[in-house]
Order: sequence, then C-alpha cells, then structure tokens
Amino acid sequence: MKFFFLVLKKILKLLSPPQRLTAIKVLALTLVGAVIDILGLSLVLPVLAISSSPTEITSNPSLLKIINLLDFSSINQFLVFIYALLLLVFLLRALIFLYIKFIISNFSFGLASSFSKKMFHIFMYKPLDFYKKNSSSDLLRDLYVSTQQFASYLIIPIILTLSELFIVVIILIGLFLFNIQVFVLLIIVLAPITLLFYSQTKSKIESIGHELYALNGELINKVQQGISGFIDVKLSGREFFFIDRFYQDQKKYKKLSVTKSVLNDVFPKVIEFSAVLGIVVIFIYSLFFLDEEKREMLILLSLFGASAYRILPSINRIMAGMLLIRQYAYLTDVIGITKDYDDLLHNKDEEIAPMNFKQSLSIENVKFYYSKENIFGIDIPKLTISKGEKIGIIGKSGSGKTTLANLILGFYDIAQGEILVDNTRLTSEEWPAWKKNFGYVQQDVFVSDVSIKENIAFGVDLNEIDVKKVHECVKLALLDSFVDTLKDGIESKLGENGKNMSGGQKQRLAIARSLYFNRQFLVFDEATSALDNETEKEITDSIKSLSEGNMTMIIIAHRHSTLKYCDRIIELDKGKIIKELSYQELVKRI
Ligand code: ADP
Repeated sequence: MKFFFLVLKKILKLLSPPQRLTAIKVLALTLVGAVIDILGLSLVLPVLAISSSPTEITSNPSLLKIINLLDFSSINQFLVFIYALLLLVFLLRALIFLYIKFIISNFSFGLASSFSKKMFHIFMYKPLDFYKKNSSSDLLRDLYVSTQQFASYLIIPIILTLSELFIVVIILIGLFLFNIQVFVLLIIVLAPITLLFYSQTKSKIESIGHELYALNGELINKVQQGISGFIDVKLSGREFFFIDRFYQDQKKYKKLSVTKSVLNDVFPKVIEFSAVLGIVVIFIYSLFFLDEEKREMLILLSLFGASAYRILPSINRIMAGMLLIRQYAYLTDVIGITKDYDDLLHNKDEEIAPMNFKQSLSIENVKFYYSKENIFGIDIPKLTISKGEKIGIIGKSGSGKTTLANLILGFYDIAQGEILVDNTRLTSEEWPAWKKNFGYVQQDVFVSDVSIKENIAFGVDLNEIDVKKVHECVKLALLDSFVDTLKDGIESKLGENGKNMSGGQKQRLAIARSLYFNRQFLVFDEATSALDNETEKEITDSIKSLSEGNMTMIIIAHRHSTLKYCDRIIELDKGKIIKELSYQELVKRI
C-alpha cells in the first residue's frame, strides 16, 4: 500500500492545480458510484426473500404500511411494483456506471493528451545535444505509447483501485458489525493469500514492466532502421538480418507478455480456491462443533458466500490494479519530464525579434568539449567574422568544421571563452534571438511531406504564407527550374523526406527557406560534397548570387569550387585553426 500512495503522490505532483481538482471530483464521483453499486446489489436479496414467500409480507407491519399508503389492491400488484422498482434501480445503476466510466476515461485520456502535448513542447525546446543523445525511437515511444499507457495503466487503475478499496472497506465494516465470526473467517481466508501473492509477484511484474518499456523503444528502432535505411538494406542484401533482429525482440516481447498475462490470471484463481476453502472450513466447523444445528451453518454459509461473492471481484480488481501500478510506476518518471513545462510557457519563440547583428561576430579564447570523456575539443583563441563576410572552412573529416559552425549558431553552451556579437557576450538568454539570424543548409536537409510552398515557409500557417515571396525565394535560390517541371508548381507535394528530390534540389530548397525568413547569416555545411557536377554548379551559382548581397556566409566545403566567392578560407585540424588563406592560395596549393 505504501508503494501505491507513493505513486499517487508522484502523480499528484505532476498535475496542475485544476487537474488536481478534477481528479478529486472524479474520485468522489467514483466513490458515490461504488455506494450506488452496493446498494443496487443489496436490494436483490430482500426482493428475492419476499418473492419466495409473499405471505410474509402480510406479517410485516412496515411493508403493510407501504401497501396501504400506496393503495395497492393486492399483494401481487405490490410485487409487480417492487419488480418494476428493481428494474428501474438497475437501469439507473447501469446508466450511472456508464456515466462514471465516461468521466474517468475523459479525465485519464485528457491527461494523456495534455502530457503528450507538454512533452512535445519540451522536446521542441531541448538543445541539440538532447537529440544527439536520445534515439528518435525512444522519444516517439514516450510521446505516443507512454502517455497513453500512463492513462490506461496508471491513472484509471489508481482511480478504480481506490474505489474498490472503498467498497471492500464498507462491506468489511458491515460484516464486522453484523457477524464478527464470518468477518474473522473472511479475513483469515483472504488476507494471508492476498498478501503472500502480492509480495511474491510485485518485483517480477515490475521488472516485466521495465523490460517491456525498453523493448517498445527497441522495436520502433529496429523497424525504423529497416524502413529508413531501406536502400542500404537492399544493397547489402541483408534483409534477413534486420528481420531476424526484429523477430528476436518480438519473441522476447511475446515471452514477457505471456508471463504477464498468465500472472494476471493467477490471483483470481488462487482467491477462488481460498473462498472454497473457507466454505469447507465452515462445513467442517459445523460438523464438529454445531451438532444438529444445521440452520446456523446455513446462515453462516450464505453470509460468507454473499460477502465473498461481492468482495472477491473487488479484491481481484484491487490486485490487478496494484500489479498494473507496479508494472507502470516508472511512467511517473517518464512523464516527469513535463515538470519543466511551466518554465517554458513564456518562451514564445515567434514573438522574439532577431538579435541585431551590425558589425561583427567574434570568437575569443573558446575551448569546447562535448564531454569530459571526449578527447576532441575546439580550441580557438580568436576568430572574427565581419557582417557580410563570406568565410570558407576546410579541413579533414572530423577536424571540427560542423562543431565550430554549431558553436557559432549557439547550439552548445561554452564553458570557456566567449562569443561576442557586436561586443555583446552571447549567452543562452540571447540564443533564441540570435539563432533567428541563421539559415542552415545541411547536407541532409529536412523535407516534410507537404507542398513546396509549406516547405519553404516552414512552420507558417497555410493561410498566412506569402505566396509572392515564396515565388521570389524559389527564383533566388535557383529552384525554379525544378519547380517548373512539376505539374502543380509550388503546390506540389514533396514526399516524406523529399524522396523524389535530388540532394542539390533539397539544398536549394533550404536556401529558399532561409531567404523566406530573411535570414542574414547563411551556413552551408558540406553543401556540395555529394552533388553531381551540374547540381554543384547550380549551388555554386546560387552561392554566387547570394554572395553579391550583404549576406554573411560560412561555407563548409569539400569541393573547392564552392569557395570561389569566399573572402577568406580557414583550415581546421583537430579543432584548431591551422591556416588562413585566400581562394587563390587554395587553388595554387592543389
Ligand atoms: P567535421 O565537420 O570536420 O567532419 P565534426 O565537427 O562533425 O567534424 O566532428 C568533430 C569531432 O567531434 C569528431 O571526432 C566527432 O566524432 C565528434 N563529435 C561530433 N558531434 C559529437 C557529439 N554530439 N558528441 C560527441 N562527439 C561529437
């Protein structure tokens, strides 16, 4: 029980004050429902009693009073009235049950979608490092699966377990007051077996929960590898390897699910057995201690049977609920990430104006390491980039070109040294405004499965897209030759990840995107290494046309032709600047 309340406390902490209030209301309503449930059922026995011996009605003064008051002409008429009343009560009971079910589900799945939204919000504001450290399959699992499981396997079971506990306590109190012998017997028969079973299975079911959680991420990951890496999988001809790995995890998943499923059914059977054991104990007791007083035994037996009949399903549900809560308690930590949500709420990115960049960007004494264990580090005593300057970065693969660009873009916090924008130190506070200056043309441009128009005005509501500007950007980025080949022009859909576009076309799309948002600082990252000669020329041409304006550019390049329009070129090696040269000097060196 301690564990149950611990989880409950953790969940309550995650809820906002209005959600907490709704939770209390839902719980109160559920408890009222539980009382109605018991009352409804308890009506059946007296009705049965008077139906089996109607003559007793006449000997009962209170019943006679009712008959006279309601003016019934016969006992049968009264009985029909009682049956109609019983039907009405059961109809109401069913309707109330459904209403409560709706309220609980509405509350729980409402929480799931609210947590899912909060989580997505938080993911959206995480630093780049977060995405490098966490696999997308784990993030997808937490967003989709874990939040739904949180509702189905934690919130609903907690509410139902509390209401069942309430029912059991009411029945036990009633029994205690009515017949202490049966009460004691019920406790002796049910308590030890329940406690023993729970203590034996709780850690097993908890570890199954953890393993299934990890496997959920693994399975998404393996499917993603097969689907996203389709071309490489095909070319390697090792489809069976991916299928087999997926199947191995599926088998583990199956095994755990079978154990979980069977474990969940063990308890009802054990408790059923205990109830029969209880009845046998009453028989033996009456055999040896009650002599001929069979009637007393029958009363005991029916009382025990009736209490067990109502209590057993409740105990079953409590146990199932407790096991579910054990199994999914870790979800409170998964959902716990949403605690930071309120701090992020004021972070309305759209309203932030780009940070002014008038003269220069300066890197001074910057030393940056990804982590203590990582030996690679950037070490730059001084690098100044003037506004409008075009800088090329060259260097072997792994020399730190992308890391340097990401530092300038402000993706990482630097522990040592500083980056100054027009003599103002760049801190994480300025970052949201600073990054609004940048367009980033990566080798692997993100293309969404929507129209070209929406891909260029990325993140802008369809109705608010400036179509004229989109056309201008398409021209400036030299994307028009591609757009002209498409039947629907800028309205054409691009397919998931731009499946139907070449690498060069995707990069020109990224340029158009930057132009649409008036970005004054463009970073090209290895923009041309993977392109054919013709596309490379087109990209070089767009760089040329862009370089004529006052755009500041950093061009990380493998092919030197792209660097033709750079004012200067720096060469990196092991995170340090080892040379600064002009394009002519670079060409001579080859
Ligand atoms: P380049 O762009 O010159 O090829 P990078 O800047 O991408 O080089 O990488 C420089 C070094 O930093 C490499 O050794 C790489 O393995 C390491 N590195 C890159 N990103 C990370 C990261 N997120 N965490 C740890 N190490 C990284």
